[in-house]
Amino acid sequence: MILMKDVYKTYDNGVTALNGINVEIAQGEFVYIVGPSGAGKSSFIKLMYREIKPTRGALFINNKDVSEIKEKDVPLLRRNIGVIFQDFRLLPKLSVYENVAFALEVIEEHPRNIRKRVMEVLDLVGLKNKARFFPNELSGGEQQRVSIARAIVNHPKIVIADEPTGNLDPETSWEIMRVFEEINNSGTTIIMATHSKEIVNTIKKRVIAIEDGTIVRDEHRGDYGYES
Ligand code: ADP
Repeated sequence: MILMKDVYKTYDNGVTALNGINVEIAQGEFVYIVGPSGAGKSSFIKLMYREIKPTRGALFINNKDVSEIKEKDVPLLRRNIGVIFQDFRLLPKLSVYENVAFALEVIEEHPRNIRKRVMEVLDLVGLKNKARFFPNELSGGEQQRVSIARAIVNHPKIVIADEPTGNLDPETSWEIMRVFEEINNSGTTIIMATHSKEIVNTIKKRVIAIEDGTIVRDEHRGDYGYES
């Protein structure tokens, strides 16, 4: 369902971040992307939600070549992909409820469905009782839960997370991982770039290791494999 064929990415400044990536990820898989800083993990992830385009090669998501999608159709692609960042990226002036509802309002979902679905996902991430709070009234872990709720509110088939626990303490990170596992158990593909050796070595999943823009290891139930 995700297929990269000979994907290269060279930025305008001449830096080649991805150097011939070939990979296939099936629907429902849970994949960690690991590797040293500057290896190309973020570039790999950004390609999937068309934050960047490959310089060369093809990237298919559900049989559609993402690099061929017209600019105006990119929002359509993103409706099927939930994205989660290390720094949460919530809208500070909107409440928890509004931050999550926003994603449905832009696709003009019926208001009654919006309320039901928002409360459903807030319940899933354990924040139903904080719907009226604002981001600055929440802990880091809670903010990340809101951003997860926002990412999944549209029922995306794929959730992409770039270092989602990077700003969180270990205990909170485990809680966030439990939420990811629950989402994955319902059939959603999860692709997560991480530097957490503890998480990768404890919650065993497929590990794709990237170094200097190429995949150097791809193992099911793999280890982190680096000192951290
Ligand atoms: P990682 O996420 O593994 O740290 P990145 O994909 O962010 O790796 O970066 C890979 C390489 O591409 C690095 O050398 C980085 O400096 C470079 N790079 C990343 N983004 C840009 C950009 N927008 N413009 C130029 N070079 C970039």
